[in-house]
Amino acid sequence: AKEAGRNNFQFFTAEMNANAMEMMKLERDLRYALDNEEFLLYYQPKVSCRTGRIVGFEALLRWQHPLRGMVSPLEFIPLLEETGLIVPVGAWVLHTASAQARTWQEAGLGKLNIAVNVSGKQVGQHLCATVREALAASGLPAEHLELELTESQLMKDAEGIISTLRQLKATGVSISVDDFGTGYSSLAYLKRFPLDTLKIDRAFVRDLAADANDVSIAKAIITLAHSFNLKVVAEGVETEDQLSLLIANQCDIIQGYYFSKPLPTTEATAMLQQSRCL
Ligand code: C2E
Ligand code: CA
Ligand code: CA
Ligand code: CA
Repeated sequence: AKEAGRNNFQFFTAEMNANAMEMMKLERDLRYALDNEEFLLYYQPKVSCRTGRIVGFEALLRWQHPLRGMVSPLEFIPLLEETGLIVPVGAWVLHTASAQARTWQEAGLGKLNIAVNVSGKQVGQHLCATVREALAASGLPAEHLELELTESQLMKDAEGIISTLRQLKATGVSISVDDFGTGYSSLAYLKRFPLDTLKIDRAFVRDLAADANDVSIAKAIITLAHSFNLKVVAEGVETEDQLSLLIANQCDIIQGYYFSKPLPTTEATAMLQQSRCL
């Protein structure tokens, strides 16, 4: 029994070491990625339900790993957050996305908005100063930058986040609640957060055409948002049926594969140039 116990122990530590080493390797790769410009942004269009035109883009982080290929943010954002690397990477995202939006504006492609995902971990780390720097460096007017924070991250430290959000609002940027409906937000906070937009999570959009309950939820979110003077974006719209139901229920903006997947910069630019000729 003693022998087996020792073996178990050895096995356990060996496995733990392998795991820890894999994490350390990934962390080292992520630092290298930041220094060597392996990160890039894709841009997914947001389309106005009223005009059918592109009103802006959401910037989505990608990692072009030399061996692994294109890595999904779902695989590395948690580690960026754990290691604190999300702060410099997030600053890079803010700078790059703002500069791209400004480039499109200067090319005469429209007064586009750019939405950037912000992790809760960035909020306490000079987020306001970083946002101001990104705006100053790019020349993008503040009203064209929107920050997306998930509902669950907002609620994690609601009191603490409110003051940062107020400072951010004072700079002129907009605040959007991402993945709305999946967390537990209280209506009292919805009133106190200085918000501009709610994004209906894809989970409620997916079965919209088949599930009457999801129609009720989407309807309720849209009515709630409008009564607070907030705009509503539906994410993950893939079909014409979903689109029709959202339009019928006064949704403001749609985003999803129905219109376009997230695109590399050159393809996003090409799409803007085409839609301008319509
Ligand atoms: P999110 O902010 O909810 O972004 C929407 C995700 O849904 C994106 O995945 C997008 O590619 C995908 N998507 C868009 N339309 C459709 C559709 O019609 N159908 C389906 N099935 N999927 C759709 P992506 O790019 O893999 O990003 C995943 C998550 O990673 C994001 O979810 C966001 O939470 C996070 N993320 C991405 N970029 C950043 C970033 O720069 N900073 C931070 N902190 N998080 C980021
Ligand atoms: Ca988002
Ligand atoms: Ca989302
Ligand atoms: Ca989502």
